Amino acid sequence: MIEFQQVSKIYAGEVYALRDVSFTIGDGELVFLAGPSGAGKSTLLKMIAGMEKPSTGAVMMNGQDISKLKSGSLPYLRRKLGLILQGQGLLLDRDVLSNVMLPMIVVGESTADAQTRASAALERLNMLDKAHSSPLALSGGEQQRVMIARAIVNRPQIILADEPTAYLDRENAMIVIEALRAFQRSGVTCIISSHDEQFLDQANRVIYLNKGEVTDAWTSAAAA
Ligand code: ADP
Ligand code: ADP
Repeated sequence: MIEFQQVSKIYAGEVYALRDVSFTIGDGELVFLAGPSGAGKSTLLKMIAGMEKPSTGAVMMNGQDISKLKSGSLPYLRRKLGLILQGQGLLLDRDVLSNVMLPMIVVGESTADAQTRASAALERLNMLDKAHSSPLALSGGEQQRVMIARAIVNRPQIILADEPTAYLDRENAMIVIEALRAFQRSGVTCIISSHDEQFLDQANRVIYLNKGEVTDAWTSAAAA
């Protein structure tokens, strides 16, 4: 369970990126963070990943305040997370398979295990036939699917995806959302930011942000 308790984030220059934000996300939910550009969505996702700290308030994960974690404990938090964040694109100097293996190599898994799991992850996203392609040879939608494979290869409990459908046409955006939904159905919590409202009916929970404030939030039993 993830709980924001009256979280505010003030960046230098008195910019309120988040203002008194509170909500709870249950295990296994598919959550959309909606709202225009600049609303605070990326800041909120980075807080769950321990990459930004609240100025005030608490970010609880399974009863622990992650904003109080020492930097030495962050790797343990990160292992529970699959991240699809802005500015963390695929590495262009290696093929698709090596990109997907990387999170496993980083945590010290063997090359053989990484290869097996990365291939399985690519297969799940219907991208195994591109395993030895350069990321440069892929379409935007294909790159996004490889980034999902890379995010799930360590079997995370939670996937954080920042605007994963940005720059995609409707068909490719649909494929990406369906892929994330498939992981959610197998028990993974998915938190997805989007300024595009076309997929909101897929969610269990939608949290609307505007200028750092939660302006609306709803839950749906139907999508569960
Ligand atoms: P969104 O993801 O909804 O577009 P962000 O979380 O990126 O929103 O940004 C929220 C607000 O915080 C914006 O006004 C943005 O300019 C500001 N902001 C984001 N990151 C920083 C930063 N590192 N330093 C200063 N201001 C920032
Ligand atoms: P396998 O279990 O043989 O690895 P799967 O097709 O079940 O094959 O899964 C493919 C890959 O997707 C897995 O290696 C794993 O990295 C990832 N994966 C599968 N299921 C989950 C899940 N529920 N949560 C997180 N990651 C998963």
